[in-house]
Amino acid sequence: MSLINSVLGPLETKDLGFTLMHEHVISQGFVAQNYPELFDDHFMDKIISGISDAKKGGVDTIIDATTFDLGRDAAALAEISRKTKVNIIACTGWWMNMPQFIDGTSPDVYADLFVREIQEGIAGTGIKAGILKSAADFGGVMPEGEIMLRAVARAHIRAMVPIILHSYAPEQVARHQLSILKEEGVDLKWVAVDHVNDTTDLEYLIWLLDQGCYLGMDRYPGLNLSSRSRTETMKKLIDAGWTDRLLPSHDCSLATPDTFFPPEVKESILKGNPYGYLYLKKVVFTQLEEMGVPKAILDTLCVKGPRNFFEGA
Ligand SMILES: [Zn+2]
Repeated sequence: MSLINSVLGPLETKDLGFTLMHEHVISQGFVAQNYPELFDDHFMDKIISGISDAKKGGVDTIIDATTFDLGRDAAALAEISRKTKVNIIACTGWWMNMPQFIDGTSPDVYADLFVREIQEGIAGTGIKAGILKSAADFGGVMPEGEIMLRAVARAHIRAMVPIILHSYAPEQVARHQLSILKEEGVDLKWVAVDHVNDTTDLEYLIWLLDQGCYLGMDRYPGLNLSSRSRTETMKKLIDAGWTDRLLPSHDCSLATPDTFFPPEVKESILKGNPYGYLYLKKVVFTQLEEMGVPKAILDTLCVKGPRNFFEGA
């Protein structure tokens, strides 16, 4: 057992329950604060009702993978958690919106900020972050991204909260991300490589697992690969004995500014996932069952992996 930071205060890892490890409860929060007319009038109601449905369907905890530069809103997360009774863990670190001032700065400058958000709270709210995030996408780790990755590593070593990596599986970008974390002295049992179900390359996935880290199988239904093919890959990893290192999730946001996507794209996203944060339970778990995964294993998915991850097991 250990204690982690939820947006409503300390939470014991044994109370995490069914946990979605990579979602976006509220993204572009700064747009909503400054230009609310760009959002649907009822966007907060939509989020609260979607998360209340998830709670009724058996979701206990959601990790909000929204960093500052993706528009994190800690106060809104706390309000949503209070109203829905779903535990929410806020994150610190940095995604890929890199202002020019980052160029050439020491990672220690940002490590100090991230540690403050874990130990004292975010933007004067007293709401503490419970996870660190760093990101690299196609093209690999960029110079500013490397500064932030090293900052996240140093904050992890000082504050001992785990790290999730936004990564680009088709180019195996995590190979480089993990080598930088190792250089910084991070034990990879504290690291999850996210978005890995954008590939079906088992050799790469098992190489990642052999490094000691967890796999965020968190693009559901996702783009480019079918949901079923993502689940077939998960089934192969379950068969190979890796169930407790897998972190399935959706990477889903229930509300985005109206101008974000053209209406037809918004429509197709909704059509692709009519179940929101219950897509895994309603679709993916059924697929796994049809593929022959025993109920005893399904009962531990989204429960044991997240708990192990936060306990550094
Ligand atoms: Zn995400």
